[in-house]
Amino acid sequence: MSEFVIRGGEVVDASGRRTADVLVRDGVVAEVGAGLEAADVLDAAGAIVTPGFVDLHTHLREPGDEDAETIETGSRAAALGGYTAVVAMPNTRPPLDDPTVVRAVLAIGTEALCEVVSSGCITRGRAGEALAPMGELHALGVRVFTDDGSCVMSAGLMRRALEYSRGLPGAVVAQHAEDDSMCAGGSMHEGAVSSRLGIPGRPGEAEAIIVARDIRLAALTGARVHFLHLSTAASVDLVRAAKRDGVPVTCEVAPHHFTLTDEACATFDPAFKVHPPLRGAADVEAVRAGLADGTIDAIATDHAPHTPETKERPFEEAPPGMLGLETAAALALTELVEPGILTLEQALAALSWNPARIAGIDDRHGRTVAPGAPANLCVLDPAATWTVDPMALASRAHNTPYAGRTLRGRVRHTVLRGERVVLDGRATR
Ligand SMILES: [Zn+2]
Repeated sequence: MSEFVIRGGEVVDASGRRTADVLVRDGVVAEVGAGLEAADVLDAAGAIVTPGFVDLHTHLREPGDEDAETIETGSRAAALGGYTAVVAMPNTRPPLDDPTVVRAVLAIGTEALCEVVSSGCITRGRAGEALAPMGELHALGVRVFTDDGSCVMSAGLMRRALEYSRGLPGAVVAQHAEDDSMCAGGSMHEGAVSSRLGIPGRPGEAEAIIVARDIRLAALTGARVHFLHLSTAASVDLVRAAKRDGVPVTCEVAPHHFTLTDEACATFDPAFKVHPPLRGAADVEAVRAGLADGTIDAIATDHAPHTPETKERPFEEAPPGMLGLETAAALALTELVEPGILTLEQALAALSWNPARIAGIDDRHGRTVAPGAPANLCVLDPAATWTVDPMALASRAHNTPYAGRTLRGRVRHTVLRGERVVLDGRATR
């Protein structure tokens, strides 16, 4: 029997906030209340005890690009960021379009420092031509279907995927909304800054056009659509209106889209290259407002490790993507909660219980901290400040755009199924 008490913290979950100790026994929450005792104590004084975070959007790079990240190193970064579950994106080599590959990822994931939830491709090879065996993947537990990295460009194929998904309980089709034909050759947001720098652009309309189309397809089929990493004011407006009309859509935003603008690209530092690209200030304001009014359901990292050899190429040749797992919660606290844009509860909802529900893992993640709940928990010190050092991150790669930035909010402990995988800010294995 393993038993410990998380003592002296403030418990914050979907039911509200209260000062309470949390007794964990044999992998589940046994008791929540004042003055709980156990031989083993986890200090939570001055900290928040919350359901562990859930990332809807993690690129773990295994199989195929283990020199950038592995399931093990990515899961360690996740645990240090307070995550107890991540949805692994399918653009591995080979891609997650086949039961054999998904089974292999899930098997390696059983040893990880967070739960590794496999997504599955919408189309074979993410090529956008024929549907992947969604039923077979669903039978292995896949609920999030996506060709992320690529947009499903054919409206007809997207419609068929949605119709098919309706027969798969809990399934959701997640779109990387960027029209290829408008973005080909583009490396940053199309606008005044891209003109000034002479870098080919990716227009915001390329995102909104696909979002508008897929809202129509969700309404037509009655199937759930989730929009990955929304980045523009127009997209947020479209989702807001669709939700008002009762269309079954959800969406996420990545931390870089509520913290950084396209001006960062003026450094020509490829750390700031990402798809969809960093946008203008008005778009940043709009996604912040979308989080505040609940239009945007989740904060998802789009954690995208790249080796220095590839990421340090010239801006236009470097691959898109940036690290996110170890900085997301601190960015939410620093950029959204501290200035009063979100309440702490709203930020935690976007990091934990909302994404848990979207991914269909809310039976074990994002749950109210109460007796019987699986002990997937994060203890977060909201006042602790720290400075991002790319070389000190647990990720195998170092491509963070926040090097040298001082953030507020640090994960103190992470508990996965009752195991202390992070203790006093350090991974235990
Ligand atoms: Zn994407």
